[in-house]
Amino acid sequence: MFNAISCWSNRLRRRLAYGAAAFLTVVMVGAATPQPANAGWLDIILPTIQVFQITNMSDEQEVSLGSQVNQQLLSRSFRLHRDEDLTAYIDEIGQRLIPHSDRPDIPYIFQVVEDEGINAFATMGGYVYITTGLLAAAENESEVAGVLGHEVGHIAEKHALDQMRDVAIAQGVAGAFGLSRNQMVSIAVDVALTLPNSRKDELVADDHGFITMGEAGYDQTGMATLMQKLDSGGSPPAIFSTHPNPAARVARLQEMDDESAIPSATAGADTSAYSARVASLR
Ligand SMILES: [Zn+2]
Repeated sequence: MFNAISCWSNRLRRRLAYGAAAFLTVVMVGAATPQPANAGWLDIILPTIQVFQITNMSDEQEVSLGSQVNQQLLSRSFRLHRDEDLTAYIDEIGQRLIPHSDRPDIPYIFQVVEDEGINAFATMGGYVYITTGLLAAAENESEVAGVLGHEVGHIAEKHALDQMRDVAIAQGVAGAFGLSRNQMVSIAVDVALTLPNSRKDELVADDHGFITMGEAGYDQTGMATLMQKLDSGGSPPAIFSTHPNPAARVARLQEMDDESAIPSATAGADTSAYSARVASLR
């Protein structure tokens, strides 16, 4: 994730308790309901998947898992922003990055979540989320491209799947009988909303984002300037408290920009054009 998760984490804990019964009901009803012809791999290979398979799943399997996690997030935790034009604009920025990413061969979906907190994160299988709060705080399109590129980097590196594997092992559900579908989706949702990425993974995602946005033609300064805004905010995002020294991360991005920015990458720096596109948020 790009930064704060604390506000969503608290909310999630409440909703997990509330949602658990409803989720189980859905699963039980689902078991007695004819499955659609396009039922995902999770339906097909029930009841179990071995833990080692989490980090070794096919693209199709990962996209299917991402889709099911997305359904859970949207039904239990997130409210999507209703302005379709704004969502289309953000998706357009994200899609421009994908051909230049390290993982262009899966579909991506960029969604705008209604939340004042400044936040963005990715799950798996191409699902990226960004808040209205972050879009309002950003100064121009290149800053948004930097955040989205960072999140695509997490997906390219399969960081969420690594975290899922670690959680499954730590929870002792990684036994010989493997993981059921609902266990796997539950762990994936939990990881998405409560577990910060490691500092190492954040730096890797920064590198991906920086390179990807530059190759897509975006002014690479945007990545450092947005990070700097977050660093200088009144209440530091949770990721900074769990991974100290945010100034070093900003400095690192500035150094990358000084030493290896693509000179012809200048798009997305127009602040007034961006302001017009996100006017409804301000
Ligand atoms: Zn991140």
